[in-house]
Amino acid sequence: MKCDPSLLRPAQPAVKSRLIRQLLLPPLVILLMVGLGLAGYMISESNGIRTLSESGERALELHARTVESEISKYTYLPSLLELEDSVSRLLTDPDAGDRQAVNEYLEGLNRRSRSRAIFVLDTNGRVQATSNWRDADSFLGEDLAFRAYFQTAVRGEPGRFYGIGSTTGEAGYYLAHGLEEHGKIIGVAVIKVRLDTLEERWQRARLEAFVSDENGIIILSSDPARRLKSVRPLNPQIKERLARSLQYYWWPLNELQPLARETLADGVEKLTFPANSETDKGKQREVAYLAQTRRLADTPWHFTLLTPLQDLRRESMVQGILVGVAFALLTILAIAWNERRKVIATRLAAREALEEANSQLERKITERTADLRASNERLKGQIRERRHAEQTLRQAQDELVQAGKLAAIGQMSTSIAHELNQPLAALRTLSGNTVRFLERGALETASANLRTMNDLIDRMGRITASLRSFARRGDDRGQASLDKAVEATLQVLGNRMNACQLHRQFDDQLLAIDQTRLEQILVNLIGNALDAMATQALPQLWLEGEAQGDKYRLRVRDNGHGIDPEARKHLFEPFFTTKPGEHGLGLGLTLSASLATAAKGTLSVEHPAGGGTAFVLALPLANAPSETVEPS
Ligand code: ADP
Repeated sequence: MKCDPSLLRPAQPAVKSRLIRQLLLPPLVILLMVGLGLAGYMISESNGIRTLSESGERALELHARTVESEISKYTYLPSLLELEDSVSRLLTDPDAGDRQAVNEYLEGLNRRSRSRAIFVLDTNGRVQATSNWRDADSFLGEDLAFRAYFQTAVRGEPGRFYGIGSTTGEAGYYLAHGLEEHGKIIGVAVIKVRLDTLEERWQRARLEAFVSDENGIIILSSDPARRLKSVRPLNPQIKERLARSLQYYWWPLNELQPLARETLADGVEKLTFPANSETDKGKQREVAYLAQTRRLADTPWHFTLLTPLQDLRRESMVQGILVGVAFALLTILAIAWNERRKVIATRLAAREALEEANSQLERKITERTADLRASNERLKGQIRERRHAEQTLRQAQDELVQAGKLAAIGQMSTSIAHELNQPLAALRTLSGNTVRFLERGALETASANLRTMNDLIDRMGRITASLRSFARRGDDRGQASLDKAVEATLQVLGNRMNACQLHRQFDDQLLAIDQTRLEQILVNLIGNALDAMATQALPQLWLEGEAQGDKYRLRVRDNGHGIDPEARKHLFEPFFTTKPGEHGLGLGLTLSASLATAAKGTLSVEHPAGGGTAFVLALPLANAPSETVEPS
């Protein structure tokens, strides 16, 4: 079978697009999920950073103030030495014996102020007195003219300096003040403080912070690893200057190199450092910080507060994953909803199609019902008409039968009269004779006569009974004994049968026809045969029977003159007769045929080659044998 290719064509793009959709959808969903997750992560991170930087701002201010107050609490101290006469004397005349007194004074002052060292230099930068005069590494006599704080202070400006001591190798904050007398600088007072208490405090508070100086070198840091590293690249001039001033002694001053650096706002950066191998062992390879920087008042230094972003990152990652998962769930829900919508749409379409088919069916049923009703009505009308016609026919038939019978009676009246007259005459003679025999006393002869008379009366009764039975109206139902019907017929026909030789070749069958009607048929058929054999020298009549299926066929054959071909055509037509005058009415065969048909049988004629005529009466056999119908 060939398929029309045009039928297949529209289905192909639909299948193709569905295939593409099915292939592309999963990677697209995954891509979108990852993209949205990433976006969620980034948004969450930037929001978190904003929140952190807001709260960090306050922390930065707080801690920067702490640093500022820590630094500024010593600023006035060097200037106080101006007030001390022994110091002025020592500086104006270093050879006088005030040195020891100044040393001890400075020692006491240093102890009380909890500074690291307090010392006094002459205008040449040589240490004239110091609080640590007792120590082996005392500054006493040391030339510190190269120190920047001295050079600044000797010019009358406040000297501020953070560096590593050339004698002790210990880092400290130096505050220097030019000591004046009568408007002239006679020396410089220097106080060295250690700021590592700040570092300890930060460490205790688990705070990550550092302070960088004007060169960008970290001078204080909560993490010792970052100490003395520069936060920005140092140019060669600065490097050389620092080397000359020995500010950081011979410290290498490496650059603090973050793995990544991102400026978020003015003074706000995102820094990523390699992980500190000790604190973050085995956890992660890098640590990101939010670095907020603020300049410290009265110094060129900057305070930087580092807020770790690890927790924020973790949180952002969780939120990113949540966004991705939520998107995946929403997508699954959308797909499920879409599938459900499709299923519902298909069901609706199917239901609509079903309803349409139903309504079409109902319409058709209504139309068919109307057609059927109409044809039913037509049929009923036809049935009514047929019944009416049948009734009319039956009436006509009954009347015909009756007419036929009456005609037969009329025809037979002569022979009946003859039949009855004979016994009547005999009765008259016998009764006269009997009276005479009784008078003579011949009782025996009289009783013999009476018996004969009795027989004659019986015979006469039989004749009238058969005549009455013939005249009576029958009906379509009932059962008839063939044997009895033949007997009754022979009785009706009486002595007309005498000259005829009868051949009985049938069984006594029970037939589905009224007994009287069967007798009427046989009277007609045998009567006609006798008429046809009237001129025959040796008239012979055969009654031959045979069962054929559910019917029994009785052939009534004679050796009469037969029927000429022209008459054969009209045999069963009413009032067709070849008999002269009042002998024939032409109703016998017509009535017999209609009686046979009414009993669901047939009557047909045969013309045997050997001459004569045979009428074949076929009647249905009765299902069950029944009692014979008593002629009444
Ligand atoms: P009717 O006997 O009154 O003429 P039927 O209808 O009985 O009317 O018969 C019609 C005609 O059929 C008869 O007139 C006769 O010519 C012919 N016919 C009937 N039976 C026979 C028969 N056995 N042999 C020859 N002719 C017959």
